[in-house]
Amino acid sequence: MRSRLIALFCVLSWVSSYLAQPDSTDKKLFESFGSDFKWGAACAAYQVEGAWSLDGKGPSVWDDFTHRRGKVKTKENGDQGTDFYHRYNEDILLVKKLGLDAFRFSISWSRIFPEGTGKINPEGVEFYHKVLDACQEAGVEPWVTLYHWDLPLALEKKGGWANREIVQAFEAFVRFCATEYGTKITHWMVMNEPAAFVGLGYLAGIHAPGKISIRTFLKASHHVCLSLAVGGRALKEVLPQAMIGTTFSCSTVQSVKQSKRNDKAVKRMDALLNRLYIEPSLGMGYPSEDLPILKRLKRYMLPGDSAKLSFSFDFIGLQNYFRVLVRSNRLVPVVGATRIRPEKLGLPVNEMGFEVYPEGMLSILRQFSEYPIDNFYITENGVCVNDQVTENAIHDGDRIQFFRDYLSRVAQAKKEGIPINGYFVWSLTDNFEWNEGFRPRFGLVHVDYSTMKRTIKDSGWWFKALLAD
Ligand code: BGC
Repeated sequence: MRSRLIALFCVLSWVSSYLAQPDSTDKKLFESFGSDFKWGAACAAYQVEGAWSLDGKGPSVWDDFTHRRGKVKTKENGDQGTDFYHRYNEDILLVKKLGLDAFRFSISWSRIFPEGTGKINPEGVEFYHKVLDACQEAGVEPWVTLYHWDLPLALEKKGGWANREIVQAFEAFVRFCATEYGTKITHWMVMNEPAAFVGLGYLAGIHAPGKISIRTFLKASHHVCLSLAVGGRALKEVLPQAMIGTTFSCSTVQSVKQSKRNDKAVKRMDALLNRLYIEPSLGMGYPSEDLPILKRLKRYMLPGDSAKLSFSFDFIGLQNYFRVLVRSNRLVPVVGATRIRPEKLGLPVNEMGFEVYPEGMLSILRQFSEYPIDNFYITENGVCVNDQVTENAIHDGDRIQFFRDYLSRVAQAKKEGIPINGYFVWSLTDNFEWNEGFRPRFGLVHVDYSTMKRTIKDSGWWFKALLAD
């Protein structure tokens, strides 16, 4: 019996690796992006670095949040991450090995300013120099995000994003990084997905700092929008030649059943998830017409703020994972809509319950193409699947299929004239998935969390084969 099972397993492994080989359709798909198209992989400081209190680093809201009981489903935390702090060289060489051009990572604010402002931690500063030097040596372009959710805890204690003083503190952090690392970085992203960290952190309470308050959410939203523009301007001032961008999460919003009420619910949800943080930077103000609660933002605005919200970014990073299905529900505060779980409708979902819906990538790109933006990158897209771990290989055929499906929609958008100039896989390696812990694995590279050994998955080899071509 045992030997039969082993034989079956070997056959399955062989079939999986065969399916993982790029075919001629894959080759055509990759060719259609052209040789200037930027290919990369992304990660974020808290999810990979570990070394949470090493070498003078101050605690961040995520260190605090994950150390609180009941906040992370699996009771895990990012204390060790994937040990990127010590293994950055190996990871950057993996980027190179996979044939990718660029590596997107973020800087931990509290590694540099342990208290958020004031005293600088030289060892933290040195760490990112080492990472940047390793990128240069490997011939990999560093794409740096300044804020990927790990606010210094000291600042959260003063109110975090809901305290207007943060705008100044953020500007000082941005200016410091621009001056310190400016000669080594050409592509900067001011923030990662404001809708996610403000919405989940200050309204839903399921991400750090775990607050649930409409007032706090609105204040934080305004200060984040101001900081986006202030950060962009500071970077441009110090580094006029650099490419300054920022990233937004985006999801097509649809109703499960068409009705006037549901259509309005779609508009409200769309304003909350897709428009609230980008439109002020484009000089369009807040989308209060479609999401009336935003009218209350005026309470937190000072004279002259409207003009301060806009900044002309050199590029916009879009990050898409799922479609959002809603129906109207006046009882739900802020948005007056309930999200319908896709699995309830029998729709395909990934290991985190995100709907796998490639068409959504195309429709959201079409939606964003209505804005006056002439340079987009997909700065995150990827999927967590149940990887099949064998002794010599990691089979993740579902992930390969995901990339085939999503990339073909990106190619279609490009063909329609939407200016998309690059695609970053989320993520380079498996890592700590916030309140979900280590269970969801998004990497092109598998990490064995007991040894920290890295193994390239079939999807990584698939990319490599296609990019080498
Ligand atoms: C975030 C990542 C996260 C990924 C998958 C994105 O919203 O930027 O940090 O791991 O989604 O959930």
